[in-house]
Amino acid sequence: MGRFINQRFKALEAYTPGEQPRDMQYVKLNTNESPFPPSKGVLEAVSEIEVSKLNLYPDPTCKELKAAIAEYYSVGLENVFVSNGSDDILNFFFMAFCDSVEHEVKFPSISYGFYKVYAELHGVKYTLVPLNDDFSIDINDYMGNDANIVIANPNAPTGIALSRKDVEKILCKNKDKLVLIDEAYVDFGAESCIELTKKYDNLIVVCTYSKSRSMAGARLGFAIANEELISDLEKIKYSTNPYNINRLTMVAGIEAIKDAEYYTDNCKTIIENREYTSRMLEEMGFSTTPSKANFIFAKSNKIGGEELYLKLKSRGVLVRHFSSADICEYNRITVGTKEQMDKLITEVRNILKEKEC
Ligand SMILES: *Cc1c(COP(=O)(O)O)cnc(C)c1O
Repeated sequence: MGRFINQRFKALEAYTPGEQPRDMQYVKLNTNESPFPPSKGVLEAVSEIEVSKLNLYPDPTCKELKAAIAEYYSVGLENVFVSNGSDDILNFFFMAFCDSVEHEVKFPSISYGFYKVYAELHGVKYTLVPLNDDFSIDINDYMGNDANIVIANPNAPTGIALSRKDVEKILCKNKDKLVLIDEAYVDFGAESCIELTKKYDNLIVVCTYSKSRSMAGARLGFAIANEELISDLEKIKYSTNPYNINRLTMVAGIEAIKDAEYYTDNCKTIIENREYTSRMLEEMGFSTTPSKANFIFAKSNKIGGEELYLKLKSRGVLVRHFSSADICEYNRITVGTKEQMDKLITEVRNILKEKEC
């Protein structure tokens, strides 16, 4: 650390993204990207004509993009916020609505690692709420109306989802606090809470183009909420980086909404591949959580989590291993194409066979 860093950030531990190694071609199942390219409409929209306009700033109001999202989700233009990836929106949420006095925040002890990082970045007081033994969320832990709540639904890295009804129970009991539902993985089989934003002014639903819409590299996320919450987020955006959606991402984001059918079909394929891969892993003695996401959270009864991760990596298959004690026996495996899953299954089988002799 340099001697010039702001005192406030001295103890800050940054988020560690999944590795993006360049040393060889891996079957990449470690960062929950889509194995499918963006839709035709997106590929065509990011055209030479659009590139030739890069000398000009993009529309800071993102009106056309917001309109496409608003129409698709049947909400008003004033209910949509867009930003540079949903991480950006999470950052703004902690910045805008949380602090160490009146607006503390709570979230599950096992969840998306960035929540803790943003809380620390902004000096927000936070509580980690333990999960049940089966990694499910106990909604009774969130009935206090005593802190803002952040829940990934489905949760990461477990893939376990709450029903919309359960989220609504939480909303009812926390009328004076904000509830952020991070729906990064909702399109892979969980229930979206977007429609509840019309009924509850304390709900923010955050979504991303990075997973189900095959655009992790474009950096685009959006939030849907009551008009006042959106304008608070806009205030933060205009106080940090008004042009945070670039021209190419903007046109891509509009076209992706129009090509909904392509993405829905891809999600169906991913769900099929998830169920197939879980079944095969379970036949080899793994236990898995009931995932509604585009990944499988799995633990073997024959090999440790870290050992399996390393052996798979040496065989060209990259999965995500977390070293924290409560989940270190697990790996999070992104669901890719059938071919990728068969490669994973074959290598796991070989590794287990080797271990037997
Ligand atoms: C991937 C992910 C995000 C981040 O998405 P970006 O839009 O790529 O920033 C947010 N929340 C969860 C739970 C995720 O897994």
